[in-house]
Amino acid sequence: MTKLKINSGWDFAPSLESTDHVSIKKQYELFIGGKWVKPTSGKYFDTINPANEQKIALIAEANDKDVDKAVKAARKAYNEVWSKMPAKERAKYIYRIARLIQERAREFAVIETLDGGKPIRESRDIDVPLAAAHFFYYAGWADKLDYAFPNKKMQSLGVAGQIVPWNFPLLMAAWKIAPALATGNTVVLKPAETTSLTALKLAELIQDAGLPEGVVNIVTGAGVTGAAIVNHPDVDKIAFTGSTGVGKIIQNAIAGTHKKATLELGGKAANIIFEDAALDQAVEGIINGIYFNQGHVCCAGSRLFVQESVYDLVLRKLKDRMEALVIGNPLDKNTDIGAINSKEQLDTINKYLKIGKAEGAEMYQPSCSVPKNGYWCKPTLFTGVSQSNRIVQEEIFGPVLAIQTFRTVSEVIEKANNTPYGLSAGVWTDKGSKLFNLTSQLKAGVIWGNTFNKFDPASPFGGYKESGFGREGGLHGLKAYLKG
Ligand code: NAD
Repeated sequence: MTKLKINSGWDFAPSLESTDHVSIKKQYELFIGGKWVKPTSGKYFDTINPANEQKIALIAEANDKDVDKAVKAARKAYNEVWSKMPAKERAKYIYRIARLIQERAREFAVIETLDGGKPIRESRDIDVPLAAAHFFYYAGWADKLDYAFPNKKMQSLGVAGQIVPWNFPLLMAAWKIAPALATGNTVVLKPAETTSLTALKLAELIQDAGLPEGVVNIVTGAGVTGAAIVNHPDVDKIAFTGSTGVGKIIQNAIAGTHKKATLELGGKAANIIFEDAALDQAVEGIINGIYFNQGHVCCAGSRLFVQESVYDLVLRKLKDRMEALVIGNPLDKNTDIGAINSKEQLDTINKYLKIGKAEGAEMYQPSCSVPKNGYWCKPTLFTGVSQSNRIVQEEIFGPVLAIQTFRTVSEVIEKANNTPYGLSAGVWTDKGSKLFNLTSQLKAGVIWGNTFNKFDPASPFGGYKESGFGREGGLHGLKAYLKG
């Protein structure tokens, strides 16, 4: 077994997470009406491990007929069972799902890493525990909606069509399914085509939890399957997380219909370091903010603004820290940076690296090597960029950071707000007053102070401008599935 090589002079012995306890079928069908159903077209597609390009399983491709079956199953379950069930009984099922996720946490974490390429440390410590936490949190609200929204008689919407991306497959499914169930809605969910496995494992778990048939339906496939959900006339709500481009298509498609929507879209977050900040802590936060999950994070801190007086020092610290990052086998517990999720995404990132260089920016990557097979991108930073550069304006969705400097507070606010996006931001300073000044002026749905990429089910998350609308998490997340 090869040793992981990191460039600070230290070698770590491999520490591979075991895959013995994981059961993955050769072929997955669609989960409709509580049963595993073959796709009408008879078509299946491969899901592969992006870290070695090996095939993991075959996944059913749902067409509009399958989606129609799923919506009908969800409607029947809504009319006959779920909307009539006392809320405290609904809550018990949601608690059961949460507990079963905890029980099977290791299996979910390994499958997430195999299918998506993210380091096991992240799927084990972030994705899976947070997914369980969302089910726990919303289970708690199910029978307390009258207290959540006093003096209002809130009602469920009906059938929710939910479409999620590949960067946090299980967690995004939990963000969507848990509040929908807690508020009495039924669900048709579609995972992203490159990462269907944990949603399908969740379907198995939901069967084990004894959830009534048709309350949650999982259909797999690519954009065409997603469009069939969006365009189905009997869907009452679309909850979408994904790119701004697809979000716009969805918004157009449902314009003029009765469908409610929440769109959680792209981002180009600014991380801002002031000269009075605890710089080592800030550098660690910047590294976490952009290189965490290979930069496959909507709220990734992909733009860094450093106050001019500390720029040289921060840049040196960042480069030193990048040299020590471990890139390689995502199943290894030492790994910091795993595989890029797909060849398509790697091509997009590489395209932006070329664009950055062509725009005259200076590119830096640490001296580490990457595995031969699979899809990999070294952590990258660009200096010498300006506000109009495409690598500063456009979402890359990879481990690529663009650094600029600033002198004054007003200058950095103007620069940070100068993108079409407004999902998140981070501020690093020793001064509370400065922090509060910035949080009130930055146009971003979430702003972290002296930390980054922290999530909690009780805390709403969502964007401004082209980062979408609506909030997930917290009470706002409940309201998105209710009328009244
Ligand atoms: P994507 O928009 O390509 O795909 C997202 C999902 O939509 C997938 O399941 C896909 O199959 C489906 N889809 C594609 N075309 C569709 C169509 N025409 N109609 C309906 N569904 C369709 O996004 P992606 O590449 O999977 O994910 C990356 C994007 O997601 C990034 O832009 C990222 O910022 C964003 N994202 C946002 C948040 C957030 O909370 N704001 C969270 C995670 C990811």
